[in-house]
Amino acid sequence: MDITTKAIALKATDYKENDKFILLYSLEYGKISVHAKGIRKNSAKLKFCADQFCFGQYELANIGERFTLKSCEQLESFYNLREDVVRYYAACVIAECLANFTEENQSEPNLFVETLKALQSLVNDIEPLAVTLRFLLAFFKIQGIALQTDCCISCGEQSKRYVLDLQRGGLACDNCRSAESIAVSPRALAVCKMLDGIEYNKLTRISATNEILKDALNLCYKYVSHSYFSIKSLSELLKLA
Ligand SMILES: [Zn+2]
Repeated sequence: MDITTKAIALKATDYKENDKFILLYSLEYGKISVHAKGIRKNSAKLKFCADQFCFGQYELANIGERFTLKSCEQLESFYNLREDVVRYYAACVIAECLANFTEENQSEPNLFVETLKALQSLVNDIEPLAVTLRFLLAFFKIQGIALQTDCCISCGEQSKRYVLDLQRGGLACDNCRSAESIAVSPRALAVCKMLDGIEYNKLTRISATNEILKDALNLCYKYVSHSYFSIKSLSELLKLA
């Protein structure tokens, strides 16, 4: 059966002499691995569609759970993300989340739309750390592991101050905190609340310094890596930014 789907290339790996496997995040099928035959030949016309962050209308042959590339029409390249190392790593955080922490063959249209908007914001010169934070908060929510920022994970009460309670895997108030807790800066928490669910095109209105955005991303990093999974490109981004 032949299918067409809008998809974003997350990464590609060489296979045999002239082939590649392209990992796509697609609108209709979620994450899928696609066999691209002969794509490494000099004469291959479809080379572009294995480039990381290529967004296209992919035409695929689908037999069982296997997909083979037939054709592709590029919709947007996002290629210039590579011209700025911070924007590039921000995009890598997004790609890593999709590649490593979503299930294959599970369509999640909300996540597809989030991804596209986040990548578009990155090429449109919106503050890359704010875009990353905005994406991660949405990603956690879609994955069912939202970072709860408005009340204590243990007693459910609102508090003036919170810590990241590693034992409980969330933000706790001073009364509930366990021994294994990390301080959270109120400004980092405030920026998380501010960005949570905001339209990407409104991110330009957020006035948060680099330091506060880094604090907030650090909070996300510690939160997710302690209880769920570690996003390697996020730790790289935090070193670079
Ligand atoms: Zn509490």
